[in-house]
Order: sequence, then structure tokens, then C-alpha cells
Amino acid sequence: MAKRISGGMLYSAVQCPHRVFLDATQDDSLRDEPNAFVEMLWEHGLAHEAAMVDEMAASLEDLSQLAGDDKAAATLQAMDAGAELIYSGRIEVDDMVGEPDLLRKTAKGYVPGDIKSGRGLEGGDDDDEGKPKLHYAMQLAHYAHILERIGRGTGKREGFIIDRNGDDIAYDLDLPLWGREKRTSWDRYTELLAEIRGMLSGAHVTRGALASVCGLCHWHTYCSDELGRLDDLTLIPELGRAKRDVMAAAIGSVKALATVNIATFVKGTKTDFKGIGPDSLAKFQERAKLLSTAGAPYLKQAHGLPDTPLEVFFDVETDPMRNLCYLHGYYIVDLEAGKTEYKSFFMRANTPEEEAAAFAESWALLKWAMTRGTVYVYSPYERTTMRALSRKYPEVAKEEEVSELFARPNMVDLYTDVVRKKTEWPVRNHSIKTLAKHLGFAWRDTHPSGAASIEWYHRWVETADAAIAQRILQYNEDDCVATKVLLDGIRKLPVQA
Ligand code: SF4
Repeated sequence: MAKRISGGMLYSAVQCPHRVFLDATQDDSLRDEPNAFVEMLWEHGLAHEAAMVDEMAASLEDLSQLAGDDKAAATLQAMDAGAELIYSGRIEVDDMVGEPDLLRKTAKGYVPGDIKSGRGLEGGDDDDEGKPKLHYAMQLAHYAHILERIGRGTGKREGFIIDRNGDDIAYDLDLPLWGREKRTSWDRYTELLAEIRGMLSGAHVTRGALASVCGLCHWHTYCSDELGRLDDLTLIPELGRAKRDVMAAAIGSVKALATVNIATFVKGTKTDFKGIGPDSLAKFQERAKLLSTAGAPYLKQAHGLPDTPLEVFFDVETDPMRNLCYLHGYYIVDLEAGKTEYKSFFMRANTPEEEAAAFAESWALLKWAMTRGTVYVYSPYERTTMRALSRKYPEVAKEEEVSELFARPNMVDLYTDVVRKKTEWPVRNHSIKTLAKHLGFAWRDTHPSGAASIEWYHRWVETADAAIAQRILQYNEDDCVATKVLLDGIRKLPVQA
């Protein structure tokens, strides 16, 4: 039988349609080895699901021991028998199949639900609880669709998510996706479903697009090679899938963009490419030229970096699953004394008291550093994390104090304030890893990444293995030192108009 469309495919297609295409059409042997971080996420999700299911055990019809046709038949029987809550059922019709974690009986029919170990909604602040996550909504819409087709739905397009806190969050799939967007989750689902049907039938051939999400994808090596061979436009930093697709008919490769006369596409303050203005088009052409000629990096204007006798490079490591910050690292460079020092504040036990203590020590060092020199970070993430910590532990620092400190001129976000605005590089992205490596810096670890650090941290919590703690600290130190290498590299770049 031809491959059926599952809820998992809808989930994946939100992140990257090409992944669904490759999963369906390519040999599994071409995939990368399973990533330890992805496996850890998977295990964490299963453990959370098991804990939630344990809590509901008394009211559950548990079909998790069944598979395939047996599971599907048992699910129908359970619904016929009026089961209040079905765990791990299987529903199917035509080319569609779904295995929702939960099917909950209501007066009008069954509502599908999933158990997730992440937040049930995304975004949001003090006044707004956030909006539905698109990938969750697409999965639920698929289950609701099948239930509707087999006459077991409620007559309403709806679902629910049991989130990491055990909260039960309703998803109304007939509501607009967000604010000004008129399409509903259901509209987006039907588009995506048609797209996937096209892929599976061979009518719709997708192409990869280099993006941050590729880092954890099992097709990373395959796509990097393929996109490199195609000289795809998404090799250009910040030129993603949507921009590539609107340009594709006129400009098909990095080389083509490097050599084309872009003035022919400019119409006043706009270009022929929706969503790309004349300045952006010129910027992308500059990047295309640098990439295709392996040119040298340069400054587009004076860097304006402060000269202070003390430079401090700050980097945090956080665990989104436990919602905590387990490490604050500082590389302190005293230029006058010619001394360097790495200081770290690591949670030596997985407790709120340890997190608060690490935050307090870090905050004290940060305040000291700000009175004596310049502090460098490489993203807005340190500010976001310190603000989140101040909301958790206001006895250490108030949120306004953190905001005020991060707004001072001697707090420099090297990525946002300098790299993105003032420099150009012959590379595929502007991550600290890519730029520092371009300047010759090498991490001591063979597989350095933020995701790997989280996975190490989880293993350290389980084992208390000192070697793992040392690996985490060494990785963080190297990240801090890499930022110093980048700073020094930027100072030496020529200014080119
Ligand atoms: S590597 Fe990137 S482009 Fe390729 S399938 Fe994965 S997410 Fe999509």
C-alpha cells in the first residue's frame, strides 16, 4: 500500500516539508546517525507521557500494547463501547492514519489530544497566555479530520494538549492562526495535507533549505551536500526558504545572484521579489559574491567598539526541558595586566537553591565587570535568560535592574549590534561556531554545540560524573574564548564601502 499520511508527517512538514519528502522517498541508510540530543528529547517526551498516563491510569482504556490493524480495530471497539478516555489508539481512513495519545469522549463524539513535554502554547507574556503551536495544531487537525471522516468527531474542529505542567489546553482549530493572519489552523492544515499528498504521489518535488532547524535533522549531511551541489540560494545567511522560493524563477543559484544586474529587479522602493526590498537584495548579492569567490570578510562601516582595559565574555547554558539555567560562564581578559581567567557558576545540584546561588554569583560578577570594562555576549539570549532568572529569584536582582544593566553602552551584543549590522563574511551562517572557526579558532570538544551541552547536563544529573561536568565547562569556556577571538577578528577587518 502507498505510504499513508500520519500526524507525525504533519508535525514534520511544519518544520520542513523537504524532510517529509526525503523520509518518504529516500533510503534510510542515507540518514545521519541518530543525534544524542534528539534521542534525549524523545526519551524525555516518553518519560513525561508515561508520568501523565500514570496519573490518568484509572480512567484509561490503554491500547499501547497493540499495533497496526489490531490497534485500529480495538480503538473502534473502545469507541463503540463508550470508553471515556482512550490512550494510544489508532484511527484511519483512506490515505490518512493517526495515533493520537488520547481520545476523549464528549457528549457529541471524541476529541483528540496529545501529551507534550514542552509548553502547550508559544509566545505570550504577563497579559497574554500565548498562541497555539502550529505543529501541535497540525497534528490535532489531522486526527480531528480522520474522526470527522469516520463519523466519530464532535462536529467541531478541536483538540487538546496536555503540556509539560499537566495543564489541559484546548485547541480550537477554526480560529485564525494568530493576530492579523486570517487563515485558520484548519485552512493551513488542508493546504499542508494537499502538499504532502502531492509529495507522496510524486507530483510535488520539494527542495531543502538551509536553516537552523537543519542542525538536528537526520538529513543534515544529505541536504548540505545537495544544497552545496545546487549552489542553492539558502546557502546565503538570512536568505531562507521563502525568499529563495520567490527569487527562484529569476535567480537560481548563488553564482547567478553574484553576477546578475540586480537593478533590473528594482522598481522604486520595491523589487520584483515579494518581501525583499532593494537594500536586502543588494545585501544578499554582496553575500553571494563573497561566497562564490571565497572573498575576505569586511566591515561595512566602522565597528564603533569601545576600548576598555577589561573585556569580559559572558555565555549561559540553559536546559529548556527543566526550564533552568545550569551554567554562567565568564572569560575575563585584563588587557593591562595581560591576564586571562575563566570563571564559571555551575549548578552543582539540580535544585532551585543551586540555580539561585549560581544566578547570585553571576549577577555579582556581571555588575563588577560592568563598572570596570565592557561585557560581550553573542545574542540577546543572555539578557533574556538573566531577566527570566530575575523573575524567578527577585531577591537576587529585580527585572528592571537586569534590563537597565543590559541597556548600558558597555554591554555589547556582538551578534546583533556588530556582526549582523556592520560586517559581511564568506560563510553560510553567522553563528559563533562558524565565524570563530573561519578565523582559525578550534573548539577542544569534537562535537561542540548548545544541544550537546544540554544532553551532557542531563547525563551529569543522572550520573554526577565529574568528567561530564568538566566537558560542559570546557565547552562553555571555549564559547566565551571564541567570542573574544571574533571580537579581535572584527577589530582587524578593513572597512569597505
Ligand atoms: S536538513 Fe534541513 S532542509 Fe534537509 S530535510 Fe532536514 S530540515 Fe529540511
